[in-house]
Amino acid sequence: MSYIKYKKNNLFVENVSVKKLTSKFSTPFYLYSEGSIIENYKSFSNNFKKSKPLICFSVKANSNIQILKVLKKLGSGADVVSGGELLKAIKSGIKPNKIVFSGVGKTEEEIRLAINKNILLINVESENEAILINKIAGKLKKRTSIGVRLNPDINAPTHKKISTGKAEDKFGLSKAGLISFCQNCKKLKNLNLNAISVHIGSQILSEKPFKKTLKVLEEIIKKTKINFKFVDLGGGFGIVYKKNEKKINLKSYSNLVERFRKKYDCNIIFEPGRAIIGNTAILVARVQYLKKGSNKTFAILNAGMNDFMRTALYDAIHNIIPVVKNSKKNKGSLEFVGPICETTCKFVKYNKYQSINQLDYVAIADVGAYGASLSSNYNTKPFIAEVIVSRNEARVIRKKQDIKSLLNQ
Ligand SMILES: *Cc1c(COP(=O)(O)O)cnc(C)c1O
Repeated sequence: MSYIKYKKNNLFVENVSVKKLTSKFSTPFYLYSEGSIIENYKSFSNNFKKSKPLICFSVKANSNIQILKVLKKLGSGADVVSGGELLKAIKSGIKPNKIVFSGVGKTEEEIRLAINKNILLINVESENEAILINKIAGKLKKRTSIGVRLNPDINAPTHKKISTGKAEDKFGLSKAGLISFCQNCKKLKNLNLNAISVHIGSQILSEKPFKKTLKVLEEIIKKTKINFKFVDLGGGFGIVYKKNEKKINLKSYSNLVERFRKKYDCNIIFEPGRAIIGNTAILVARVQYLKKGSNKTFAILNAGMNDFMRTALYDAIHNIIPVVKNSKKNKGSLEFVGPICETTCKFVKYNKYQSINQLDYVAIADVGAYGASLSSNYNTKPFIAEVIVSRNEARVIRKKQDIKSLLNQ
């Protein structure tokens, strides 16, 4: 079911007209569909239901606490990458025994917090990190449950800036490094090595690299001769942003995962972010100015790279759709750009678009993942509001930041 769609020529999120919301909330704002978040979570969970995995939503994809609460109600755990995300996940009601902590640069303070909260796993990314965790755990007199992250050296087809599983990437331990880590870990008496984890990158639209990763895991598990209690297969499942992209089909991968789980008698963890939240939101913005360029028209929006960074950071293409459709044609090509004083503050260019006027409303599509969570105050712009629709109702889940809070620092 599609939760964000046109009825006649008006864009709706569930049963709420976006046009109507533009008179209620000042643009720009993020607009989510709660129904589609629930549907995505259930569909992911269903796909792997034979393996009964623990699904740890990747909080960095979207860290709004109200969204975390929606996911918590569905049974989700959390994959966090900072002390702040850890505290937020707990505050949302997610139990520490459903939280895993990843990241290459955890600080003493973050490690202390994770140990004190008794989270499920601290996923370690280097031997020196394990040594530090062991030391802190000793001081706190708490045996600590860790996982070790493998860098399987797999080249998953995705944007180079979101690949994490190649030898040249900073994440995890190489195969050889991981095997020696497992040996040395025995000397770290305050640690329980309970898991092996992988996460090969993001926005991956093919099953193949995931299947390859399972093979590498098998090879490594055999070599370490460790019966890991948990195998954390990470996230990275892609969504369709462009018309010509094909949805990832996880059926045969899920069968392999189940075979793997039985063979190694382990508990499976997944850390999806984008697959759960990516297509559940739009960013509603207004055309502030139209400006004639020498060979195209610029539609200058009131939303920029500070509000939505993926295009500037990863060259990501996001469709921009009108809030009200018309059947007239725009003359020449049209480029949607933002107000920030950077050339990279631009979104997408169309050779054919409907007729567009100043002060028209548009929506940047599929902005639920790495949208609000990646936004910034660049150019001293306040964070914009986030609104969620559930059936007939829209409620604010983050108020637009008060400009005053930016003026004293
Ligand atoms: C970012 C991240 C994820 C989530 O990736 P998606 O592509 O959003 O599914 C999962 N695990 C780790 C360790 C991550 O860093």
